[in-house]
Amino acid sequence: MFVAIDRRRNRVVSGRQCSHETDTENYRFQCLFCDESLAYDPESGDLFDYFTHVDAPTRLREGGSSRYHRVGQELISQRACTMLPVAPQNISIGVEKHVGPQSGFRIADVLIQEPIQLVIEVVYQTSVVNLRDRLETAFADGYGAMVAILQNADVSAARVEQHLSRVGSIEVATIDPHRGTVEIGSVIRPETVTLAPTAWESVPAYLA
Ligand SMILES: [Zn+2]
Repeated sequence: MFVAIDRRRNRVVSGRQCSHETDTENYRFQCLFCDESLAYDPESGDLFDYFTHVDAPTRLREGGSSRYHRVGQELISQRACTMLPVAPQNISIGVEKHVGPQSGFRIADVLIQEPIQLVIEVVYQTSVVNLRDRLETAFADGYGAMVAILQNADVSAARVEQHLSRVGSIEVATIDPHRGTVEIGSVIRPETVTLAPTAWESVPAYLA
C-alpha cells in the first residue's frame, strides 16, 4: 500500500511522508479501505509499496499493468480524504466497490459512501472506460462522480477534458504518481452532464 491512516496524526499519509526513525510504533497505521492494521515496511516492495497488512494479504490488485492504476486509486483517495471535514476513520471509502443494482452493478475504482456519496473513476489504460454507462449507474444510486487521469496514462488529461466538453462542463482530476501530487477535478452531477446517447456519439469510443 502507498497510503495509510496515521492514527497519531489523525490523517491519511503516503509512505513518503513517513520515516523509519519516527514511524515504527505498532498499530500506528491503519488501512484506509479495510480498517486493518498496517505495518510501515518500505523495504518489502517497490517504489509504491510502503505499508503491508499485518494480518491479511493486501486486497488491492497488484502487479504489472494495474500497478499505476492502484497507486492512482490510493493517491486520489488520500486527497479526497484530506478535503473532507471529518476524521479519516469516519470516512467510508473503498476501492473496486459495487455501485448500482445487483442485476446491473458496475465496479467503481473508488467509492466514497460517507460523509459524501462519490464515485471516482481512475483512468490509466484507455481500453474500457465506459464512462457514460458508469455515470448513469452512479447517478441512479445517488452518487456524484469524478474522473481522474494518471499523468502517465495512455491519454492526457487535457485530451480527455476536451473530449468530455462535448457532453458537459467537466474538469478532470490529475494524478502524478511519481511526485505523489493530485489536482482535484469537478464533481459530475446529473445537472452538469448530458447522458443522452446522441451527445456521446462524438465522444471517442475509448471513453464513451
Ligand atoms: Zn486494507
